[in-house]
Amino acid sequence: AEVDGPLSEEARENLEIVRKSGDHLRALIDDILDLSGLESGEFQLSRGNVDLYGVAAQVAREARATLGGKRIELQLLGSTSVVWADERRVRQIIGNLVGNAVKFTREGFVEVSVASHGSTSHVAVKDTGPGIAAEMQSAIFEEFQQAGDLHARRAGSGLGLAITRRLVAMHGGQIELESRLGEGSRFTVTLPASADVAPRSAPLNEVPERTPRQAI
Ligand code: ADP
Repeated sequence: AEVDGPLSEEARENLEIVRKSGDHLRALIDDILDLSGLESGEFQLSRGNVDLYGVAAQVAREARATLGGKRIELQLLGSTSVVWADERRVRQIIGNLVGNAVKFTREGFVEVSVASHGSTSHVAVKDTGPGIAAEMQSAIFEEFQQAGDLHARRAGSGLGLAITRRLVAMHGGQIELESRLGEGSRFTVTLPASADVAPRSAPLNEVPERTPRQAI
């Protein structure tokens, strides 16, 4: 609220800088807290049947709203695909991949596609961005590792993919990257389609599903 009259142009610009660095710090703190929770083993998944396509559609809608003037077309392909997963975490996984695609792509398209293959479903995020050099492709999944030019590095914390990789692994899923420098990237996440096929490998991290209460 500008109670004592409107701010000068300079004051407004300074305020905007402060606000942006505040946002950046908060995102960094959130990421660090997330990662430490994932590492301590305290973190638990709360699984249920989740429509991967529905979550992807929601993420795509939100990402479209953040495009601003960027000449990127955001496409969504696929149809209902149910996975056995923690919906909030699935949103975080897809949100991170779409967020990166939008952040690093100057122009062209970002395509989010969802499909089922027998006992698994996958979501792929493909972009026409700068691509990732072969020698960096495993490093970027580690904490604080960033590729690309300095400008791109400043734009994030370097924690997003490390968190994403851990979340996918906890679901018994996989994440794959196909990319070439100068030719865009495609990240593909595969998740188990139902409880019957979900591996029992991480029992400590799973919350038993609540049995729905009988209607009276
Ligand atoms: P951040 O985006 O905060 O830097 P991430 O862990 O999400 O951290 O990503 C790590 C690095 O991987 C990025 O800094 C960038 O160099 C590279 N990267 C991730 N996604 C893409 C993409 N879609 N296109 C090009 N480079 C990417």
